[in-house]
Amino acid sequence: MADITLPTEIHLDIVTPDRLVAHDAVTAVTIPGKNGALGILPGHAPLLTELASGAMEYTSGTAKHTLCVNWGFAEVLGDRVIVLAQSAERAEEIDVERAEKAKLRAEDRLKRFDDLQVDRERARIALIRAMARLETAHKLRG
Ligand code: ATP
Repeated sequence: MADITLPTEIHLDIVTPDRLVAHDAVTAVTIPGKNGALGILPGHAPLLTELASGAMEYTSGTAKHTLCVNWGFAEVLGDRVIVLAQSAERAEEIDVERAEKAKLRAEDRLKRFDDLQVDRERARIALIRAMARLETAHKLRG
């Protein structure tokens, strides 16, 4: 008879162009997908999704980890989840003051209506990144 035992763990990698942010055996992952949060448990169907900017969480043993990921892709295949993000920071690594300054800078740029469209778009994306970092940091710090 065929073996239909489901995996009990997922091998998670979170990678950015600069570094490997996480490499862990986990029991649950939540990813900010382009169309909303995606909850992934062992045995999940294969999936490829674009990432939004936002908080992601995973559970390893009894520890829950929170990170911020900014754009990219996530692939679920078999017992592996690979997150390729443009940037990613663990919640405890986030410099809140830096993110608050980045948010203010982006908001100021967006208020200047004479800016070129391309600069406005860059400011809009910078604002989303800063807000995602602040939201993630607050999840950790309450
Ligand atoms: P800033 O204007 O403050 O540099 P940014 O959104 O332009 O912010 P990115 O270009 O997205 O920054 O990231 C550059 C590097 O700095 C990445 O490695 C990212 O993980 C890190 N980084 C950016 N902001 C923060 C922060 N608030 N806390 C910790 N690391 C950060």
